[in-house]
Amino acid sequence: MHLYIHVPFCARKCSYCDFAIAVRREVPSAAFATAVEREWESWQTHPAWAGSPAVDTIYFGGGTPSRLDPAMVTRLLTRFRQDRSVARGAEVTLEANPDDVTPERAAAWRAAGVNRISLGAQSFQANVLAWMHRTHDAAQIGAAMDTLRAAGLDDVSLDLIYAVPDDLARDWPADLERALELAPTHLSLYGLTVESHTPLGRWTARGESLPADDERAAGEYLAAHERLSAEGFEHYEVSNAARPGFRARHNAAYWRRAPFIGLGPSAHTGFAATRSWNVREWEEYRRRSESGQSVLADSESLTEEQVELEDLYLGLRTAEGVPASRVPESVRTAWLGSAWATEEHGRISLTPEGWLRLDALVGSLTRR
Ligand code: SF4
Repeated sequence: MHLYIHVPFCARKCSYCDFAIAVRREVPSAAFATAVEREWESWQTHPAWAGSPAVDTIYFGGGTPSRLDPAMVTRLLTRFRQDRSVARGAEVTLEANPDDVTPERAAAWRAAGVNRISLGAQSFQANVLAWMHRTHDAAQIGAAMDTLRAAGLDDVSLDLIYAVPDDLARDWPADLERALELAPTHLSLYGLTVESHTPLGRWTARGESLPADDERAAGEYLAAHERLSAEGFEHYEVSNAARPGFRARHNAAYWRRAPFIGLGPSAHTGFAATRSWNVREWEEYRRRSESGQSVLADSESLTEEQVELEDLYLGLRTAEGVPASRVPESVRTAWLGSAWATEEHGRISLTPEGWLRLDALVGSLTRR
């Protein structure tokens, strides 16, 4: 079993952000913890707990979980452990922004049982960070890494965003080097996408911002793959690379379609072929929680074909790929001939060139 807690609060909205967030100067930490505890309670009688599976990973994502009062992180983790068996050595991740990392918070997270931090760096270039509306500067990223390590939090992943608009004159290789100098255990690389209802979407619609073209996006992605591989990182999933032994177990659970419970506004839950998701906005989540209503927005049951397709899609995202027998021979031959895939020990997996075309390649399987 895997748990995800969506903490929606942010200090400011980043220009590209499409997540369910609530911008708050003062974070209503206690109200949030109370609402999440109520939702957690409502899950306790669910059949998914039959057989008493241990909780193997817990992930505080957001939003910006590092803005939550650390005492509430402690309170929630304590409650989860009281009610359910949490595996010895469970991976407990908390997403943090560099400017939130203080010695006090880092020590409190560690004491609460957090053992992995995902740090939102995005870039080390001042004009890029300002354009993204990030609340931190480059120096704060390095300072946060030092503070986390001093508190005993050594397993730190850095997020970077590539393919930002040309006019920012972003030096991507330099950003990669700055990230590597900080010796993270893990890196997540996300291509900038333009969502219409974000500031970036509006800038793009008005012609004030021109997205990077596919060629440059692909070039930056492949350059990162080469540089990180040379540095000993395993590029083990489309957007993720890790030092050996430091792959993200929580994310890997999604790719395996393992059962997970999502708590908090907009969080998704999945068991077998059933998916459900919560109301998106914090205020509605809170209102429903306080009045004793369900916070679920909706649910769906996947058909056998949809499960099969999801399996293929998720499997092809990973370096382990899927059994070769699940890809028709003519498609396999085309992929292998185009260097988009490799076949080994009866499994077919996409190369980075293939990952750049993931949606189209999976689409070619479904159109058959
Ligand atoms: S900190 Fe993260 S969740 Fe919050 S606005 Fe920025 S990108 Fe979105």
